[in-house]
Amino acid sequence: MKQTPLMKKIEANMQPGVITLHGFLGGDERDLATIIDADNAVVRRLGLTHEQIAARMEELRNGGLKGLGEFIKIESAFEVKVDSVRGKLPCPFGHPGIFAKVNTTVRNLKLDRQITYTLLNSHLIGEHGFYEGKGSPFRLEPGDLIEILEIEGSE
Ligand SMILES: [Zn+2]
Repeated sequence: MKQTPLMKKIEANMQPGVITLHGFLGGDERDLATIIDADNAVVRRLGLTHEQIAARMEELRNGGLKGLGEFIKIESAFEVKVDSVRGKLPCPFGHPGIFAKVNTTVRNLKLDRQITYTLLNSHLIGEHGFYEGKGSPFRLEPGDLIEILEIEGSE
């Protein structure tokens, strides 16, 4: 992916204090296009798409809503907790619409590992293939998501 003037503008939205306190890029020295390309390569190597990952994140979130802020068991292998905090965030890529601050925590009971993601994370992954920069508090490693949420491609 080429770093375009538009990407530069998006990168400016991702700086600390513009949309979120800590921003989206952490201490990552790479430009936005390079970050997206690197994660895209990981996901493709594992035979998946960003859409499949985002769909699984939303599926587990939807299942977890019933817990009303407490962990509930889903699909026997997972415990999921969904809680909301006040406030909404816009997409840094300039989409219309805003995203409620909803955190989903998924525990994989078999692996004894867990991961937390926001509603904005699943949007950024599904629509933009963006997992945030290294060192960002909400950075998600595609490999961790795929393992912990047990995401499998359609063969
Ligand atoms: Zn967007």
